[in-house]
Amino acid sequence: MDKDIKDLKVLIDSQSISKRIKELADEINAKYDYNETLNLICILKGAVMFYTELSKYLKMPIKMEFVSLSSYGDAQKTSGKIKTINLNLPSFENQKVLIVEDIIDTGLTLDFLIKFISHNCKANDVKLAVLFDKKCARKFDVKPDFVAYEVDDKFIVGYGLDYCGLYRNLDYVGYFE
Ligand code: 5GP
Repeated sequence: MDKDIKDLKVLIDSQSISKRIKELADEINAKYDYNETLNLICILKGAVMFYTELSKYLKMPIKMEFVSLSSYGDAQKTSGKIKTINLNLPSFENQKVLIVEDIIDTGLTLDFLIKFISHNCKANDVKLAVLFDKKCARKFDVKPDFVAYEVDDKFIVGYGLDYCGLYRNLDYVGYFE
């Protein structure tokens, strides 16, 4: 299906997103000890804008890690299977991890990653920050600890979120009617 940017309806504008991410960073800062290193994990590619913006406001020492996972491909619905493109992570034994994701939908991707980081990387604390929570679409028992926005079950793009690889660079979030 071809989609044109002129048909995109704005859901959240650029200023509101920036403001909300700063607020979310304050919520996160309040939950952690500033003296303890936090391993901040970015799920590429969708979380990249949220991740970089959020990390600027975090006050504790941060180590940045990146993984590439995908369950959507070029479609507007999950394939139900996870494609792991890069899952190269160190041990997090006795350490804290905060996973940063663009959007949680069925919960498949995050259910997989949380289990992987807890069991394989041996983290003692794994929390989850998402820019968008599509709560109504949930099929796996995953509850994000920090949520910027709850959204309806519609396909959104912008601010890292894509359709067929496009629209990730938009500084706002929109949807096609
Ligand atoms: P889940 O594994 O929770 O079913 O799906 C999470 C992944 O699906 C997200 O990381 C994102 O790549 C993709 N996704 C889910 N909903 C949307 C959406 O509304 N728009 C876009 N662009 N991607 C979505």
